[in-house]
Amino acid sequence: MIESINQSFAIFRDDLFPLLGGGNKARKMMALHNTIQEGQHTSIVTTGGIQSNHCRATALYCSKYDLDCTLVLHGNKEKFLTENGNARLIRNTNANVVFCNSDEISLEMDKAMLNYKALGQKPFYLYGGGHTLEGGKAYIDIIEEIKKSGFAPDYIFLASGTGSTQAGLLAGISKYQLKTKVIGISVGREKKRSEKIIKEFYSELCYRYSIPENVNNITVADEFLCGGYEKFNDEILQISNNSYTKYGIPLDTTYTAKAFYGMQQIIKKQMITGNILFWNTGGIFNYFN
Ligand SMILES: *Cc1c(COP(=O)(O)O)cnc(C)c1O
Repeated sequence: MIESINQSFAIFRDDLFPLLGGGNKARKMMALHNTIQEGQHTSIVTTGGIQSNHCRATALYCSKYDLDCTLVLHGNKEKFLTENGNARLIRNTNANVVFCNSDEISLEMDKAMLNYKALGQKPFYLYGGGHTLEGGKAYIDIIEEIKKSGFAPDYIFLASGTGSTQAGLLAGISKYQLKTKVIGISVGREKKRSEKIIKEFYSELCYRYSIPENVNNITVADEFLCGGYEKFNDEILQISNNSYTKYGIPLDTTYTAKAFYGMQQIIKKQMITGNILFWNTGGIFNYFN
């Protein structure tokens, strides 16, 4: 769903994706539905932080389709039990929650998988962030929607984390032969590493879905990190605070306000013109936490 702000600037409202609380994690989760059904899985094991959009979408998916769910969470348990936002939504599901340090995640996930198997279940192992080929495919498909919308973006700006949303969009741009440039604003990772991971996943998606590869330059900006994940500066806070009055949308300091700020800076510095599409990846519960 594209919302025009003016002739050359529009916003893609992925935050309004109608299921599982919305955002890119919900879209990626729903894209896995066939795989989970066809595999006759009875439970899902995944991981994230205590305010993880991905864990919220997974927990809500499991509620909706009556699957068991184990979330291996890293972060503060007290905060998880008291904070609003995604933490509250997760608490209100039947998800089984396990807390651990960041270096024990795969161990705890493996344990949860074994526990389900011992109960005769068929658990699905889901990487953090919902990083799957199916999730990437959801973003290839959306480019067709963009193409039909009548708004032809020269640039797409978005918040980039694992980069699977950006890789999917790029594979879609290749498939539908658009000339759109995609600029990811990193929310936590350093540029080189992000670009390498996105390039690899882009190639994997192109291979899997028989799309000719034609993107050589993957662009991720890491100069707006402000020190790392969940860190922000005064300008980002200002954009977030004014997001409803100025743009009518939620922009949270962890993801979308950071990306919005990065976009503004890049447009100014590189004197970018043409049609610009800001991809609102979600984060509404981070905004309201
Ligand atoms: C996870 C997330 C991102 C990053 O998406 P990736 O596909 O991991 O790059 C951006 N915005 C929001 C709101 C997210 O939850």
